[in-house]
Amino acid sequence: MQCAWCESKKATNAAATCYWELPDGTRAIEIVAIPSVQCPDCGMEYQDETLVEEIEDQLMLIDTKPLPNSLTYQELMEVPRFLKKNYFKL
Ligand SMILES: [Zn+2]
Repeated sequence: MQCAWCESKKATNAAATCYWELPDGTRAIEIVAIPSVQCPDCGMEYQDETLVEEIEDQLMLIDTKPLPNSLTYQELMEVPRFLKKNYFKL
């Protein structure tokens, strides 16, 4: 796949670990195995913008208090939402 930064064709899918601050700012959680793109040419490792939005939306729509300090992207996305729609998004 193509790197969004340097347009190298050598970019590959990777799984990244990121620290994510909760929307209420109380703490940051570690999210493991986030689908990412890794580029050997420019060294960038990044997430698709839509995926970042998905994570932000999910954190807005779930009860983040019982979340463990570390979980996988998959586990995070499987947490049931308590709002049907994201009222915070304009
Ligand atoms: Zn690159």
